[in-house]
Amino acid sequence: MTVRSTPHRSNRAGRPEILVILGSSLTVIAILCIVTFLLIREHANAQHEATRSATTIAQLIDADVLRTVELYDLTLQGLIAASQRDDLKQVSPQIRHLVLFDRSTAARFKGDIMLLDKHGDVLADSSLLEPKPGNFADRDYFLAHVSNTDTGMFISRPFKPRCDCDDKNEWRISFSRRISSTTGEFMGVAVASMRLSYFDQLFNSLNIGTGSTLAIINRDGILLAQKPHLENDPIGRSFANRPNVLRMLSEGSGSFDSVSSVDQQQRLYTFSRVGNLPLTVIVALSGEEVFATWKRTAVVISGATGVLCIGLLWLTWLLCRELSLRHHAEQELAQLAATDALTGVANRRMLDQTLRHEWFRAQRSGKPLSVLMIDADHFKAFNDQHGHQAGDDALRALAKVISDNVRRPADLVARYGGEEFSVILAETDSAGAQQIAEHIRLAVERLPFVAGVESPITVSIGISTWTRNSDISLEQLLFAADMALYQAKDGGRNRVVAAQ
Ligand code: GH3
Ligand code: MG
Ligand code: MG
Repeated sequence: MTVRSTPHRSNRAGRPEILVILGSSLTVIAILCIVTFLLIREHANAQHEATRSATTIAQLIDADVLRTVELYDLTLQGLIAASQRDDLKQVSPQIRHLVLFDRSTAARFKGDIMLLDKHGDVLADSSLLEPKPGNFADRDYFLAHVSNTDTGMFISRPFKPRCDCDDKNEWRISFSRRISSTTGEFMGVAVASMRLSYFDQLFNSLNIGTGSTLAIINRDGILLAQKPHLENDPIGRSFANRPNVLRMLSEGSGSFDSVSSVDQQQRLYTFSRVGNLPLTVIVALSGEEVFATWKRTAVVISGATGVLCIGLLWLTWLLCRELSLRHHAEQELAQLAATDALTGVANRRMLDQTLRHEWFRAQRSGKPLSVLMIDADHFKAFNDQHGHQAGDDALRALAKVISDNVRRPADLVARYGGEEFSVILAETDSAGAQQIAEHIRLAVERLPFVAGVESPITVSIGISTWTRNSDISLEQLLFAADMALYQAKDGGRNRVVAAQ
């Protein structure tokens, strides 16, 4: 049997566990947000740093290539200027050769420098005093100069030389300029070839780390050089259909993060146009290498954060468990403090407390409040006759019968003292209270007899009711119930009397 609870008794302060869980969850979320933010920022910093060093590498390559191309251009301009001198026709072939190719010695990785007439036939060759007959009218640079009056320098596609020389398998490109007459008529082409090993030598002088690549492509996406080669024989092939190359050709210069379509490696591409030349330098740093330090830091920080958060959640769980245990212990204590040990119904302390609460509630709502005073008849005699143990059993049985007949949550059954019980019936008028009292009286009367007892246990019940029309205090209400109980006793016991 348990104490019937009333709202004011169960309304304890909010559970602290919820606050603890909320607090620690917010802390964990905050820690995760901060760590994530820091890791994202560090990742961006690593990328920024890598882009900076890649840009520096690209600038170094740019500068070297520009200088070299400038030397070739000077060579071509010198050749054209010399070829247009009329006095050169009178001198010996040796002198003529010397004059024509006078400025060409400084160029690095230089191949043949030639003078072609307007049909593409060789007029002069830097490597031979007597040029070998040959026609280069089918070369892309020749065709470009025939159709284009622009006197700027043209850079050809990569090609392998037609000669039977030792380095015939070595890739080259050529720089060429149109030779025009004073009227703008096409007169021929001055062309100088350069071995592409120049780029290999240039790339080898730069340390970019493993997994990263350096490359140079022309405006058609044709590869001129690459370090290291990612595919077999890539030089001279067009990569213009690759999405990354396409993007670089259209943007000119910049940097982006992408996956290589060749080896599926993540790379940080930094690319730039070489001056005004139709060449693009590509520095592709390995993502693995760029973010290696960041990855190590991320693993350590994520691990430490994970341990910290799990520790925090574990402590929260421990704390909540302790709080919950304490809460239950407190509830049990409160229950014990409010319960009568013998019968399990509310004790006198609880009765007083609830009565005051219901009294004020009734005053506010104006709804009636009834109190029953129940006293066992001739209980002293019962005790004397059957012993205290039987008396206690009878009191427990009485408490159960009374509780069974009082069912509403706001009502309260309490042991007033000795063999007396009180019932508080909230929002119940006198008629309702009499009905309940009569049920109790009858149910007690019908209780199975205690072994060895011939007559039933009976109770006398006094009722008093407060209504909005009665002008009485709480003490007077209780006194009236007591008086009604005395009347019931006087009237012969085993009866219900309601105070008027
Ligand atoms: P009345 O009909 O006038 O109420 O007569 P009564 O004998 O019941 O009244 P009285 O107040 O003289 O006696 C009450 C008795 O109740 C006294 C005691 O023997 C018994 N009693 C009180 N508390 C307990 C208890 O906790 N256990 C037992 N077994 N008996 C108790
Ligand atoms: Mg009594
Ligand atoms: Mg009695």
